[in-house]
Amino acid sequence: MSEYKRIVLASRPEGQLRADNFRLETVPVPAPGDNEVLVRNHFLSLDPYMRMRMEDAKSYADPQPLDETMIGGTVGEVVESKHPDYQPGDKVNGMLGWAEMGVANGNAMRKVSDRIPLSAHLGPAGMPGMTAWYGLNRIITPKAGETVVVSAASGAVGSVVGQLAKLAGCRAVGIAGGPEKCAYVKDELGFDDCIDYKAGNLEADIAAATPDGIDGIFENVGGEIFDTCLARMNPFGRIALCGLISGYDGQDLSLKNVRVFLTMRLSMRGFIIAEHMEEWPQGLKELTGLIAEGKLKYRETIAEGLDSAPEAFMGLLKGRNFGKQLVRLV
Ligand code: NDP
Repeated sequence: MSEYKRIVLASRPEGQLRADNFRLETVPVPAPGDNEVLVRNHFLSLDPYMRMRMEDAKSYADPQPLDETMIGGTVGEVVESKHPDYQPGDKVNGMLGWAEMGVANGNAMRKVSDRIPLSAHLGPAGMPGMTAWYGLNRIITPKAGETVVVSAASGAVGSVVGQLAKLAGCRAVGIAGGPEKCAYVKDELGFDDCIDYKAGNLEADIAAATPDGIDGIFENVGGEIFDTCLARMNPFGRIALCGLISGYDGQDLSLKNVRVFLTMRLSMRGFIIAEHMEEWPQGLKELTGLIAEGKLKYRETIAEGLDSAPEAFMGLLKGRNFGKQLVRLV
């Protein structure tokens, strides 16, 4: 192959994301330099953080540059290597972006285990799984018998949070959009309960699902869902503030129940999983083992071909995905 396809950010979104914020290009395959590796990507991960990076706003990372390959996690196969640790045929996880191929320094990649399917290294045994593992174990610090609530519960991060909370002996309650997602969260993932926030009885449904109150919130959504859970918090409850997807297109995220932070002596910590790389080896080992043993279940929504990535990404921000959203590239 002498050329490959990639998708660049053509313009910054104003409010809701549109397909013409992206541009598909065909470009020459680059030759790897010293310590670099050329990779043919098999799967691209689509993740909500990409929406925040598209804004030119102060944040934890620099904005996605215009006219450059969209940022993104990938898994694929080494085609050519000028790095001593990699050989052609090795399966690797890297950040090669929305592209069929790419070159990167081998130090910024990792070889992946073949104990589990390749795509799982972008989901429960990758960044989303680590996000769940870290936020639950390092911020919520669950104890047996406690109640942990997680929003976006059928998704890549939320599905792992609830299953790990169950393994820790907690009552796990999910919140998700629609009866089909809620049935999956309860019946297949084994959560104790799952609330359909679209059913219109959020406050009563959360109260019924958390008879002993809430000790830990793993927050992925923000806004009304988060605000309603806050009112159920027990003394010294912990909140892992992981994401606020209901506000990524600029929607209002204001809270009314702020008083409970004082009255219930709550603690809340935001975190960015890429800043905790020292925890990844332990976390990924545990998650990979659980998947291989069939103790950690996951679901994927796979879009076919790079051209489908913009539509699939816009769908992710509207909840059209069911489980980890991927794009298959080969
Ligand atoms: P998911 O696989 O959960 O997909 C996103 C889901 O969010 C949708 O399927 C939808 O589920 C839900 N959603 C979208 N819009 C809304 C809305 N307006 N109100 C309520 N729910 C909505 O994505 P991830 O698991 O990858 O990410 C989950 C969260 O974790 C995101 O907020 C993301 O930004 C965050 N994150 C944070 C990281 C960190 O380091 N802090 C790292 C990785 C992810 P439904 O149909 O149920 O509404």
